[in-house]
Amino acid sequence: MEKEINIKKVVKQHLEMAEFFSDGVLVKGKEAIIKPQRRNASAENVTGELEKIAEQVRQCKKCELGSLRTNAVPGQGNPNTRIVFVGEGPGADEDAKGIPFIGRSGQLLEKIIKAMGLQRSEVWIGNIIKCRPPNNRDPKPDEIINCLPYLQKQIELINPEIIVTLGAPAAKTLLNTNQPIGRLRGEFHEYYTSSGTAIKLMPTYHPAYLLRNYSDDNRKRVWDDMKQVLAELNMPIP
Ligand code: SF4
Repeated sequence: MEKEINIKKVVKQHLEMAEFFSDGVLVKGKEAIIKPQRRNASAENVTGELEKIAEQVRQCKKCELGSLRTNAVPGQGNPNTRIVFVGEGPGADEDAKGIPFIGRSGQLLEKIIKAMGLQRSEVWIGNIIKCRPPNNRDPKPDEIINCLPYLQKQIELINPEIIVTLGAPAAKTLLNTNQPIGRLRGEFHEYYTSSGTAIKLMPTYHPAYLLRNYSDDNRKRVWDDMKQVLAELNMPIP
């Protein structure tokens, strides 16, 4: 007769083994995504500085999008996170609420984040453009030039270990390159802050592109990119 498998025992053994091979530094669950050095008063400073930027964005009229928007969308999330997601710009749903990635693309992004074993509230999400371009047209170069300093400052304050760019415009803007997303994705690049700090950047497809091209191959490509992110952070890959 086959021996009955004790699932609880197997899971416990697996976790113990994973911890052993990670030399006792394996971090689990919610603790994994929050930076240990930020579990103190400086977290409040970062939150305060981010709120100041958000207020500047809400008042901003530096480009014509400022007079066309319903709400500016400064960005949202955990200021102590190790991962920041950056998309292109707000769509109609985001413009209506002032919150990034809440439409169909946002729902897919949330699914991806959950598949990584995380919650949306544990990461930070923003865009290179803070106000919606009319009819979802591409942002113009001068609009990006005017808006980018807000995101650059937000990234400096959060100081994440990894930036995941969603779609070609975000990757090309932050990496200052014209290479196509198909060539950029799948490997880490480096984003440099104004003080010269290098932050690892993983370009992947925008959830809106995935929705339009919902093939097994494209989903696998995005998941492969996210697995690399988790591995780089020494986090468990679900
Ligand atoms: S898109 Fe950016 S630069 Fe233009 S008005 Fe909005 S916040 Fe200001």
